[in-house]
Amino acid sequence: MNILIIDDDPNARKTLGKILKAKGFEVEEAGTGSEAVASCGAKFFNLALIDVRLPDTSGLGVLKAVRALNEDTIAIMMTGYASLDSSIEAMNKGAYSYITKPVNMDAVLAVIEKGLEKQRLSLENKRLLKELTAANEKLKELDKRKSAFVANVSHEFKNPLAVIKESLSIIIDGLAGDIDTKQKDILSAAKSNIERLIRLVTDLLDISKIEAGKMEMRRENFDIGLLTNEILSTYEREFSKKKMLSSKNIPSDIGMIWADRDKISEVLINLINNAIKYTPEGGEVGIKLTAKENELYFEISDTGPGIPEEYKDKIFDKFERITAEKIEGTGLGLPIAKDIVELHKGRIWVESEAGKGSRFIFVLPRNFREKNTLR
Ligand code: ADP
Repeated sequence: MNILIIDDDPNARKTLGKILKAKGFEVEEAGTGSEAVASCGAKFFNLALIDVRLPDTSGLGVLKAVRALNEDTIAIMMTGYASLDSSIEAMNKGAYSYITKPVNMDAVLAVIEKGLEKQRLSLENKRLLKELTAANEKLKELDKRKSAFVANVSHEFKNPLAVIKESLSIIIDGLAGDIDTKQKDILSAAKSNIERLIRLVTDLLDISKIEAGKMEMRRENFDIGLLTNEILSTYEREFSKKKMLSSKNIPSDIGMIWADRDKISEVLINLINNAIKYTPEGGEVGIKLTAKENELYFEISDTGPGIPEEYKDKIFDKFERITAEKIEGTGLGLPIAKDIVELHKGRIWVESEAGKGSRFIFVLPRNFREKNTLR
């Protein structure tokens, strides 16, 4: 630990220096402000004892220069009673403390120890912060690579799965020759599992695109009632398997929307899937579309367990699940739905009372026209 004593009185410097050296400090002396600044410019001092009155510059000026050279140097002002005010001002300007002259050595040593302890802690903090920042950067980089990996794998999975699904459809529909009911049932079960895998892979691909800011919108004009009916018809099997009632309220003249058809399908599929997945056997799922002014309201309701108040926002965050262990899922469906809806300048929320089912509602502007842009 090295200390610079800045005082124009050589005797005072010597006396102080001797005691500090005896305590194991390295000590250097400066008789003027400019000498002090030159010394601090040449090397780092842990601590500077600065006399408030110097022949060339004021103690305050030296304090400023010393701290500008290295803000980690602890500065302690030395002052006569007459210039107490300027010492207090110095503390406002970054001095650690002040001591009055003639100096009481015990008091000086105590202040020096405290100042050096503060410096040690502050340097340690800086070191830790640097380490944390570096670790954080590394994690970010790894996370980016992991997302790219997930995106690549999902992409590679998607095409073969689509081919398998098509092949199964061809056989199930009898286009490759006759099959009996038992064979059809087995292949249909295989097909619904493949469909589940495709949804999972689509979610993974979507979330990595959202994270990378690469979710592209391909907008077109299409009949929203037709799309919703089409999607609903693919769920007939699942409804009957879970002995569920499904109700729909889709006005035939609901009309067209300007949106990304595939993405809106994904939102509907994710919400309908959840409604079926989380509602126990024998429950009910309803779909309702309403046009209000220039907006379309979509409501997907169920008679499942509902969403407790404290989860109503959280479930739209990545990987948030209320029922994590019991029912299969990734915790990605709702955040993706939210992102897609918001990319269309819409909004999504849930209305629910725990135990009384849930109603997921999303609203889309019908004619949202903005250039197809990357996000
Ligand atoms: P996942 O269904 O894969 O877990 P989601 O993001 O779609 O992911 O949903 C997040 C969580 O919200 C679910 O884990 C579930 O706890 C809750 N949730 C979503 N939809 C419903 C629903 N219709 N009824 C009850 N809980 C639901």
